[in-house]
Amino acid sequence: MRMRKKTWAEPFLNENNHFVIQEPQNNQGQWKKILNCEKLHVEIGCGKGDYFIQMSSMDSTVGWIGIEKDRNVAAVAAKKAIDLGNSNMLMIALDAENIDSWFAPNEIDVIHLNFSDPWPKAGYRKRRLSHGKFLEKYRNLLTSEGQIIMKTDNQGLFEFSLAEFSQNGWILEEVSVDFRRVDHPEDAISEYEAKFMALGQPIYRAVFALKV
Ligand code: SAH
Repeated sequence: MRMRKKTWAEPFLNENNHFVIQEPQNNQGQWKKILNCEKLHVEIGCGKGDYFIQMSSMDSTVGWIGIEKDRNVAAVAAKKAIDLGNSNMLMIALDAENIDSWFAPNEIDVIHLNFSDPWPKAGYRKRRLSHGKFLEKYRNLLTSEGQIIMKTDNQGLFEFSLAEFSQNGWILEEVSVDFRRVDHPEDAISEYEAKFMALGQPIYRAVFALKV
C-alpha cells in the first residue's frame, strides 16, 4: 500500500546524504571500502528497513545497503537506521532499475529480495525484481560465488521466479515452501514477513547462485 506523503521525508533524506547516498554512481567499486566490510549485501526494496537494519547488527564484517524507491518509505527506514547508528550500513533511495550504474562488476556478494511487489497483471511482469531483465543486471554485479536470496508470501511470484531464474541459467541452492516452520535466528524477520507470519501464511524462500 502506498504511504501518505510525509512532508519531512524529502528534507530528511537530503540532510542525511552521508547515509542516504544521492549519487551512488560516484561510489561504484568503492562500497566495501566505504562500509569497511569484507562482504557486501544489498536489499532491493527494503521498505521501512527492518530486515537490513537487524541484519547489520548480527555481523560487523558484513556491509548492508538498503535500496528503496519510495522516498516516503525510505525516509522511515533511514530514520531508524541513523538512530541505531551501525557503521556497516547505508541506503539508496532510488529506483533499482539503474542498479547496474551504481555497483561495479563482481562487487556484491548477496542480493536480498524480501517480499517484492508481485505485479500480478500480465502486462507488468517486467517490473518484477526477479524478471529476466533484472537478473541480467544482477549477474554482472555479483561475485562469482554470489547469491540471490528471495523470500515471499506470494505463490504466483515464487513460481514465476523459480522458472525465471532457471531459464536464465541460475542454480537453485536452497528452497523452502515453509521457511519459518523451524526457527531461523540467523535470518531477521522483515516487516512484511512478520505480518504474513501473524496471519499463519507460509513463507517461501529460495537461494539462487551462478554456479554450484
Ligand atoms: N522488504 C520489505 C518491504 C517489502 S514491500 C519487507 O519485507 O518488509 C516491497 C518494497 O519494494 C516497496 O517498498 C517498494 O517501494 C519497493 N520497490 C519495488 N520496486 C522497486 C524498485 N524497482 N527499486 C527500489 N525499490 C522498489
